[in-house]
Amino acid sequence: MRLHNGRTFWQTTKTLKPVFVKRDIAPRYDAVIVGGGMSGALCAYTLAQEGLSVAILDKGEMGAGSTLANTGLLQFSNDIMLHQLMRQIGTEPAVRFYRRCREAVEQLAQIAGSLDESCGLIRRSSLYYASSDHDIGALQQEYEALSRYGFGPEYWTRRKITEQYPFSKPAALVTHGDAEVNPYLLNRGILEFLNRKGVHIFEHTEAGESADTGKHVELHTSAGVFRASHLIYATGYAAPPFLHDAGADLNRSYAIATTPVQNLSAWRNRVLIWETRRPYFYLRTTTDGRIIAGGLDEDKPETPHSIERIASRARRLLEEIRKLFPMLQVEAEYAWGAVFGESADNLPVIGRHPSRDRIYYLLGYGGNGTVYSMLGSHIIRETILGRQSLEGTLLQPGRLHQAAPGGIMWRRGG
Ligand SMILES: Cc1cc2nc3c(=O)[nH]c(=O)nc-3n(C[C@H](O)[C@H](O)[C@H](O)COP(=O)(O)OP(=O)(O)OC[C@H]3O[C@@H](n4cnc5c(N)ncnc54)[C@H](O)[C@@H]3O)c2cc1C
Repeated sequence: MRLHNGRTFWQTTKTLKPVFVKRDIAPRYDAVIVGGGMSGALCAYTLAQEGLSVAILDKGEMGAGSTLANTGLLQFSNDIMLHQLMRQIGTEPAVRFYRRCREAVEQLAQIAGSLDESCGLIRRSSLYYASSDHDIGALQQEYEALSRYGFGPEYWTRRKITEQYPFSKPAALVTHGDAEVNPYLLNRGILEFLNRKGVHIFEHTEAGESADTGKHVELHTSAGVFRASHLIYATGYAAPPFLHDAGADLNRSYAIATTPVQNLSAWRNRVLIWETRRPYFYLRTTTDGRIIAGGLDEDKPETPHSIERIASRARRLLEEIRKLFPMLQVEAEYAWGAVFGESADNLPVIGRHPSRDRIYYLLGYGGNGTVYSMLGSHIIRETILGRQSLEGTLLQPGRLHQAAPGGIMWRRGG
């Protein structure tokens, strides 16, 4: 499956790609991870920090999958609002899940800060505006839920928004503790770090069949056979082995990066901006003064093939930017379209296979994919170490197969 098409911005930000020298496969690993995007890299990092021997492999170049299409907003607020998630799964699990997402943003910031080269991770607040008067009630309920459980949001009226920004919206929530990042540089930076720490990295190595021998799992690949105590599939939006229906609902989305903009002073604090409408429009800035904007999701389970279509969506995204910031001169320098996966209950699929003890999945379906990759790495570590958490149970692979349709709240783009 082609994961993106068009010109992504991040691929231009790394001129010297590190070469991961081909090495011999060790007789056995504690963990082998299939997929070297953000999920696989973070999982390898987390397991290696625990002292496990780890190999990570990818059929292509690591980070060139959906990680390259990622617009790099790191937010603890999810596509499903906290008060809605509380109704869906109960108050305690929902609050714990949100807290773990907030911790995951912190953990990502710590990892980014420990790398040799900057990956443009900058802490930001988020502005989540009501797209219409109709959504004010939902924002008020969300404000109450986030306040009650210690997430410290601010509720902004139309007046406050127009005092601070050049646009007018019925209401907004401002939340703190989020971040923006260059996901490709973060991914490659982690891999470089792991390479130096002795993690075995195999690019251009395709995983095939695997089997549990009783003593270990054997994974057949284009480079040979890997043996491991634990096998983790971090294969992104590709259908993962052994799960008949992982629960991914594939659609597609569009994004642009503008040329550097002269004066961004009207964009106070360079907040991450998104909205209550579904599918939502969202935007952020970059360290070199560009604007990255995305949205316009379409209910088609494949990457857009047509460059003309990507260009027409880029024009619409530019119009949306101009509606918010009419004084900015914006031109799209990069535009891409990509397949995007989300789950029916708005939660990622993370954890051990329901019946195959050595097989795990780290599938960060949803708009908070990177935050889920971080959270999921910790859940995989906890599971391997025999410390299954409440959040881990909540995200278990196989659950969507059994889920009653009545439990579904709403879907982004649906
Ligand atoms: C347009 C767009 C915007 C997004 N914006 C955001 C955002 O702002 N914030 C956010 O948090 N998330 C965002 N996401 C989601 C985010 O991109 C994903 O959650 C994240 O990239 C997933 O990383 P991954 O490692 O799971 O997948 P990938 O990066 O796709 O990595 C999976 C890897 O597995 C490899 N693989 C698959 N099968 C095999 C096999 N058999 N053998 C070997 N290797 C294999 C692939 O080659 C690939 O490199 C966005 C996604 C899109 C499409």
